[in-house]
Amino acid sequence: MYINGEWLSDRPTFAVTNPATGEALGAVPDCSDADIDQAIAAAHSAFDSWKKTTAYERSRLLYRAWELMIQRKQALAELMTKEQGKPLKASLNEVQYGADFLQWFAEQAKRIQGETIPSARENQRFLVHRVPVGVVGAITPWNYPISMITRKLAPALAAGCTVILKPAESTPLCARAMMEIFAEAGFPAGVVNAITVQQPARVGEAFCRDPRVRKLTFTGSTEVGCQLNADAARHMKRVSMELGGHAPAIVFPDADPVHAAKGLSLVKFLNGGQACISPNRIYVHEDHREAFVAELVSRAERLQAGNGLDSTTSLGPLIDQRALDKVNRQVKDAVAKGATLETGGDRLLNGELARGCFYAPTVLSGVTPEMAIYREETFGPVAPVISYRDGDDVLAMANDTAYGLAAYVYTDRLSTAHRAFEALNFGIIGINDINPTSAAAPFGGMKTSGLGREGAEEGIDEYLETKLGGFAI
Ligand code: NAD
Repeated sequence: MYINGEWLSDRPTFAVTNPATGEALGAVPDCSDADIDQAIAAAHSAFDSWKKTTAYERSRLLYRAWELMIQRKQALAELMTKEQGKPLKASLNEVQYGADFLQWFAEQAKRIQGETIPSARENQRFLVHRVPVGVVGAITPWNYPISMITRKLAPALAAGCTVILKPAESTPLCARAMMEIFAEAGFPAGVVNAITVQQPARVGEAFCRDPRVRKLTFTGSTEVGCQLNADAARHMKRVSMELGGHAPAIVFPDADPVHAAKGLSLVKFLNGGQACISPNRIYVHEDHREAFVAELVSRAERLQAGNGLDSTTSLGPLIDQRALDKVNRQVKDAVAKGATLETGGDRLLNGELARGCFYAPTVLSGVTPEMAIYREETFGPVAPVISYRDGDDVLAMANDTAYGLAAYVYTDRLSTAHRAFEALNFGIIGINDINPTSAAAPFGGMKTSGLGREGAEEGIDEYLETKLGGFAI
């Protein structure tokens, strides 16, 4: 735990394990209620002076943190692979993506601008300032254990807010490595704090209840997000919510099915399917079904499951047994209701793999709305294929979900691309593009996928209040 510029470790601890091997990686303190209070007090008292720093000073510190991240890219990526399981190449990509937020918001700090508004009265002037919200409580998930931290902390710090981070209990070591970077970069004591906890509800409740915390930013499941949003509403707190997803992907008749299968296999099996933007319903025109499924299966079967530190590994483990059970339940349910298991469909137990929670890359075809996988987020390496025909309203089928985070479209026709982009009710839409994300672009969901956006200009707005001055002169 890092509170008020000090590392606190003389507490009861909880263990952190490598999901690929089951080996213990270390232990971190389990914070007490007094620690939570101390972290909030530190952020609260640091806010007064931090909000008065110049944008140029905040920018300089964010740049310094960015430099340190880039210098430590390899070490951070290795730690991430050990703690979270993703292949090293994916960890390196994530460290770069995470660092991008520090760089982008280091610049954006200098562009927090107000405005003057003409008044209808000759002797009146309106002046609008943009001021930091105050103390921010930030709760992050384990699936992207570094970039989800910088995606919140970089804009919050750039805006002049102080922060208390609560990382996921399965990936606190990545959070600790990031706190070391913020400390070394020279952020003053109390500006950035982190608390680790095994039972996270206590922290969520404190962030929502304590009047010193003015904003809650959360990335995680829709279930927990709804609970926190309700609690925060009782105290009229600002919230940002990045929640679950159930992304549709549509392969139109004019698309190349092999090219589409290549792209969708890359994004489906990315991070073992443990991504909020992972495709969870792949709608393929019936003319392309055979070619598409054949290519997807061949790519799934070529994936090499294993320890992400091995250079041959292209698929890591699931985070824990609970995740494994959920994936298995959805696959078995789909097969029992008539889906065809094209490949995979079971836990991998051969050799070293038995030590971790590995699930075989799986392709299901003939998936229908009665199956749990058609509605529930999977968070595992399972690609459900649904074929549709001429006359089916595939855009309506894709929209038939409570979620609204990401969607994908493959088409060679500009008019279809535009029609789909306009019709799909999702916050992020990849048109022949499987990576529609960047620090410079607004990321976030509609419907039960959340509130607010991260990245881009909108990302810093989440941490700013608007203050109007009316001046009689
Ligand atoms: P989760 O909701 O269980 O946990 C997320 C975080 O919330 C963790 O830090 C956890 O400790 C904390 N938490 C859990 N219960 C809490 C409570 N009662 N009070 C306060 N904090 C609590 O989710 P998860 O399984 O760790 O993460 C996966 C989920 O996150 C998926 O649904 C995924 O789609 C979503 N996600 C969304 C985005 C996005 O940008 N929209 C990005 C990554 C992950």
